Amino acid sequence: MRRSSVPYLDHNATTPVRPEVIEAMLPYFSEKSGNPASVHGAGRAARDGIDRSRRTLGEILGVHNSQIIFTSGGTESNNLALFGLAAKSGFKGRLVISGIEHPSVDSVATALEKHGMRITRVKPDSHGVIDAGKIMAAVDAETVAVSVMQANNETGVIQPVEEIAHACQNRRCVFHSDAVQVFGKKSLDFYRDCGGLLSLSAHKLGGPKGVGALVLDKSLALEPLLFGGGQERGRRSGTENLTGIVGFGVAAKLAVDGLALEQSRLSALRDSLADQVKQAIPQTVVFGENANKLANTLAMGWAGLDGETLVMNLDLAGYSVSSGSACSSGRTEPSRILKAMGVDTALGRSMIRVSLGLDSDALMVQQFAAQLIRTVRQLTSMSRIMG
Ligand code: PLP
Repeated sequence: MRRSSVPYLDHNATTPVRPEVIEAMLPYFSEKSGNPASVHGAGRAARDGIDRSRRTLGEILGVHNSQIIFTSGGTESNNLALFGLAAKSGFKGRLVISGIEHPSVDSVATALEKHGMRITRVKPDSHGVIDAGKIMAAVDAETVAVSVMQANNETGVIQPVEEIAHACQNRRCVFHSDAVQVFGKKSLDFYRDCGGLLSLSAHKLGGPKGVGALVLDKSLALEPLLFGGGQERGRRSGTENLTGIVGFGVAAKLAVDGLALEQSRLSALRDSLADQVKQAIPQTVVFGENANKLANTLAMGWAGLDGETLVMNLDLAGYSVSSGSACSSGRTEPSRILKAMGVDTALGRSMIRVSLGLDSDALMVQQFAAQLIRTVRQLTSMSRIMG
């Protein structure tokens, strides 16, 4: 694998496009760059590229090609799923979501509330896990849909989606699930893990940015967000992102083919990083430590420190990681996810998320661990001096 010049440990934010993916996309910028709607040879060549990606995704997820709508990414897929369902129901009824959803689900719920829908947000436990029983207890006769993500982007905690999918099928309730962080990192089967609507994105698994998909059960009808030329069977108008869709299919196949080996490699690296840091700094807290997590994700905190300052100091040392906190009115606030988990504010503010990927190796992780330990120690002694 190509090594990045800057140690990049933020793969849950986005991933570099894999060289094989770039290579597969290139002809679709030139000799195969027709409009997929055109009947001539150039158009047919483009259409073939899209059909191939649709077949690849269908085979991976266990669905028919007609169940896949290509979109501009996870955000659009989540918006299309929830707005599309809500609009079909005349913006009436209830939407049950978890309290740890990505903003592209959570903010849609807030927008739907303004349209008159009732929203119930179910909190996770202190490990970041959503209880399937609590979700189903919130479902009532007026519930239009349930939305719970497959795994959280900040903590990496995997949710009991199989159980929720099953319970939703029994209650004849539509289940939407955001699988953006899970696709390519964990085995994913549409009917086992969802059964209703599943949101995907290409740029988290070595594909290009700005392309994703919404996969849906054949029985479901959605009101489109985009009207126009009737592409994607009238469910998402607009000339398809040809190169992006081609890249998405190739990236998905590569990620899924290499999944088992890669994920056991990454979980060993992730655990070794956690062990090194905890050994050197026993006060280290790993969020969602006892939960089942994505192999590549580690969210840590040190009460009293500031996550944003940690991220900036690590950046100066050459490492890219992210914090879950947001700065409002000059004060760093813990992430919504940690708040929902009931994490103490002083600890929540200090969170950083490390997310490994294809270019992470033992040497990089060891050097990063040493730098992180140095930075945490420096900032801790500075905060003591400052009182
Ligand atoms: N859902 C989750 C869980 C995510 O982590 C992200 C991206 O960070 C999204 C949705 C949005 O995906 P996209 O960037 O493709 O719009």
